[in-house]
Amino acid sequence: MGDLDLAFIGTGNAFAPGGLCWNGFVAGGRYLFEAPPQALQSLNRMGIDPNELDGVVISHHHGDHFLGLPFLLLHWKYFQRSRPAYIVGPPRTRELAEAICRTVYPGVLDAPYELRWVELAGGESVDLPGIRLSARAVQHDTRLSLNLGYLAELGGRRLAYTGDTGLCDAVLELAAESQVLVAECSSVDERVPIHLNLVDDIPKVRAAMRPASTLILTHLTPDVAAAAPAGTLVARDLERFRL
Ligand SMILES: [Zn+2]
Repeated sequence: MGDLDLAFIGTGNAFAPGGLCWNGFVAGGRYLFEAPPQALQSLNRMGIDPNELDGVVISHHHGDHFLGLPFLLLHWKYFQRSRPAYIVGPPRTRELAEAICRTVYPGVLDAPYELRWVELAGGESVDLPGIRLSARAVQHDTRLSLNLGYLAELGGRRLAYTGDTGLCDAVLELAAESQVLVAECSSVDERVPIHLNLVDDIPKVRAAMRPASTLILTHLTPDVAAAAPAGTLVARDLERFRL
């Protein structure tokens, strides 16, 4: 069982409060979870070569999780990516991404490498190079195609990610099954609906986890870090964890 590397390219919620970058992280140096608008900038700042990524895993189509894709594709096209890139997300990911990319960077999809689209429904799994991903339907914005959390098995470790969600059975199951859980925590109290908050929800999430498992909060406001209980990690922009 090896170490699990997590590199947070951003930790803020949709409002980028206090100047936080929008949430996303690289797992095991290979898969970028979420494509926030500043993804390419943050990867460059952290010295992570986007061409080294095997793929991108998207939880849902809100702009703070999705609108960085055109910049990644721009990089891959013009900086000599040659091997395939996987884009994983809920249904309609390919249709939406291609429409946006064709509109904002015409020609960016005509590239010398292969894009491999994987769309998952809740309960579906896929085996990709170096990772097994299991998608779980979570409760967030019902106007979107689907909102997903993920259980990821990589490097002999079980990493779970809630995506954006209110507290629901799927979140508690991800908490119970994982060794490392990256959970959104959009506010200290209940002021942001259809999201997890620190006071009401995170204690229930922690209680569902095994005692030795690690909980990392992201998708934050700055005051979450100050109020977080001992033993709960709160990610910071451009921070790396080795767990
Ligand atoms: Zn969202």
